[in-house]
Amino acid sequence: MLTAKIVSNPAEVNEAKPEDVSKILIPVTHHLSNRMGYDLERFVGYVNEGLLCCVCRDVLEDPLQAPCEHAFCSSCIHGWLVHHNTCPEDRLPLDITHLRPLFRYMRNDLARLQVRCVFRPQGCEVICALESVHRHEQQCDYALLNCSNAGCPVQVSRRSLEAHLCVCEYSSRVCASGCGCTILNTEEAQHNCVLELRAELDMLRAELDCKVEEVRHEMESRLDSQRRHMVQKESLLRSEVDELKGQLSRVMSDVRVLLGAERVRRQELEKVELLELLKKEGLRTATPSEAAPPPAEVQRKLSPRSLALDCIKRKNREVTVI
Ligand SMILES: [Zn+2]
Ligand SMILES: [Zn+2]
Ligand SMILES: [Zn+2]
Ligand SMILES: [Zn+2]
Ligand SMILES: [Zn+2]
Repeated sequence: MLTAKIVSNPAEVNEAKPEDVSKILIPVTHHLSNRMGYDLERFVGYVNEGLLCCVCRDVLEDPLQAPCEHAFCSSCIHGWLVHHNTCPEDRLPLDITHLRPLFRYMRNDLARLQVRCVFRPQGCEVICALESVHRHEQQCDYALLNCSNAGCPVQVSRRSLEAHLCVCEYSSRVCASGCGCTILNTEEAQHNCVLELRAELDMLRAELDCKVEEVRHEMESRLDSQRRHMVQKESLLRSEVDELKGQLSRVMSDVRVLLGAERVRRQELEKVELLELLKKEGLRTATPSEAAPPPAEVQRKLSPRSLALDCIKRKNREVTVI
């Protein structure tokens, strides 16, 4: 059943114990004892037939009894009742709910049976009462244990474990020189802190380069998109400016046309006013005396009005200039 390599310790090891790992490890056989019933061979002296399981014919383990007083290992009868509904011994109807603990006197007889340690094949000579054999087997020096190093397939007795751990290929420890590496025992001779650290440094450097490249790429693409955005905005603004320029020049030419029209209108008004004035003056000079006054006098008489006209003209001109 035990397929793993079994290492027996030829010599007692009296080395200093680094830590007693063996105490916390659970014996391998404990896992294998799912098969119920104690092997009759292990018992010293006569075993009453009433203490044997009706299913496996071994000594009762974790016993239960039926109303017909036949007794079974708990796992044996539970297994049987999956496919049957009768007592395996006398075929009387039997249901799981009918099962009861064994009579107290039988339990006492069972507990007092003398049994050999299950690790007898490994060298244990201990014989003790059935009620205490389990406790012994948990601490038995010959108990088979799985090596505590991860990955190691070796099974070894508790007393040989320390010796095995000293030579186990799967033992590892943190490098004493402080490089931080965990080294397997077998690799210790080839271990070179500088090489290990250099390899790690190379790896970190490659990782860093990769990250830097990633960030650079991201920044570039972000800049690119911003640049594109700016170019778009610029051309938009440029077309807006052009549009505004066009509007402005249209407005300017409209203004010029309006100013020209205004100038013409004022000139016409001036002309009309002047004509009216001249007409009035002409009437006044004709009525008082037939003889026309000398032109210089007329000029002088007219002068204040003509001055006013000049003034208006000038003003008009100023307006047109503006
Ligand atoms: Zn049984
Ligand atoms: Zn029965
Ligand atoms: Zn033992
Ligand atoms: Zn090992
Ligand atoms: Zn190192």
